[in-house]
Amino acid sequence: MSTVRAIRGMHDILPEQTCYWQYLENVISDVLGSYGYGEIRLPVVEYTALFRRSIGEVTDIVEKEMYSFEDRNGESLTLRPEGTAGCVRAVVEHNLLATPQRLWYSGPMFRYERPQKGRQRQFHQIGVEAFGIATPDIDAELIALTARLWRALGVVEHVQLQLNSIGSSTARRHYRDALVSYLAQHRDALDDDSVRRLDTNPLRILDSKHPATQALLAGAPALADYLDEESRADFARLCELLDAASVPYVVNPRLVRGLDYYNKTVFEWVTDKLGAQGTVCAGGRYDGLVEQLGGKATPGIGFAMGKERLVLLLEAAAQVLPAIPAADLYVVNAGKAAELAAFVAIEDLREQLPALRIVQHAGGGSFKSQMKKADKSGARWALIWGEDEAAAGTVTVKPLREQGQQENMAVAAVAGYLAQHTTSSEG
Ligand code: ATP
Ligand code: MG
Repeated sequence: MSTVRAIRGMHDILPEQTCYWQYLENVISDVLGSYGYGEIRLPVVEYTALFRRSIGEVTDIVEKEMYSFEDRNGESLTLRPEGTAGCVRAVVEHNLLATPQRLWYSGPMFRYERPQKGRQRQFHQIGVEAFGIATPDIDAELIALTARLWRALGVVEHVQLQLNSIGSSTARRHYRDALVSYLAQHRDALDDDSVRRLDTNPLRILDSKHPATQALLAGAPALADYLDEESRADFARLCELLDAASVPYVVNPRLVRGLDYYNKTVFEWVTDKLGAQGTVCAGGRYDGLVEQLGGKATPGIGFAMGKERLVLLLEAAAQVLPAIPAADLYVVNAGKAAELAAFVAIEDLREQLPALRIVQHAGGGSFKSQMKKADKSGARWALIWGEDEAAAGTVTVKPLREQGQQENMAVAAVAGYLAQHTTSSEG
């Protein structure tokens, strides 16, 4: 029989890796908490229509990346490819929009893409959304928050903020017409993808990596010249706030973002440490989305970070995490009576010193083989019960990592002994 395997592009995250993930998650949730953002937990599956209506029919995601299926009831459902749509659905459904909301969520997203470094089919995002604030002070807050995150994670020298305004939907329509008429005159010089996008999603052509298309774009009309007055003023204010807070950025007039729902501010944090998959965080304003999904018109802005890419960045930036040993104590117990005495004593010890990581040997075996496992475990001490200890109500404490004699003591004394030695050896 052939062996079972994980699905292509969907990865296990093994225990040696999870310390990075936990570190990342803890730092991020602390920073988000310090700005007053609250966590919301959302389903992984939604009606397909939600994504079609929000992300847009002619985007890469909806055209070719969604995992959609019919459930047993014939409903079309989709594994979420991103989090904003579900978050908007939830705040509308639960009537949370009477006052501004600052929210975040975390979890797996699914896109049928070509797997490569930093690009999976199941990947994980932390998303942040702020609802009900139309002014650019909130844009600045979100961006300052991300900058603080990079500092907290120790990767700030490796990322760069790119910023743009894509204006109101009316401004974008005018620009779109100008861009299409320019590019249509040079249709022959465009790559195939861009020719297709000319009729469907011409702004995405600005994203093209194709050299000939890039060359053509150098002479194309600029989005900045088509911005409406309000977008222009808001963008200027955002830049002013970022300057005042010393958050460096680069204005990238080609930055448009791939989803239909954005307007005004769009931004990306990019790194040159991860090869082609260099965007670690991306977002923008989406003032029309709530109404588009049936809620009362409410402005919104948000971003999402890819956790896989952030973990790769931590590694690339050689962020060394404090190694967390799997165990502080390894409990050796040879023989039936010792097993029983150790079992009872260790349950009691866990009650008294809940912060200690105690691995109790299970599965029997000789004293010698158990001691070998204790050595391999990385624990600082072995707690040893043999027949003598079981009979006498004592335990032997043996240091495994440092010099020092092993000591035999009453079981009742071991918690005090360990408490003293754990604190005195730190600091
Ligand atoms: P890209 O241009 O890299 O495809 P995107 O514009 O499709 O990104 P968003 O939808 O804005 O990405 O998602 C926000 C972030 O989520 C990205 O900046 C990236 O860090 C991460 N991300 C997106 N798609 C993937 C994926 N398939 N695998 C891993 N991370 C991803
Ligand atoms: Mg993508």
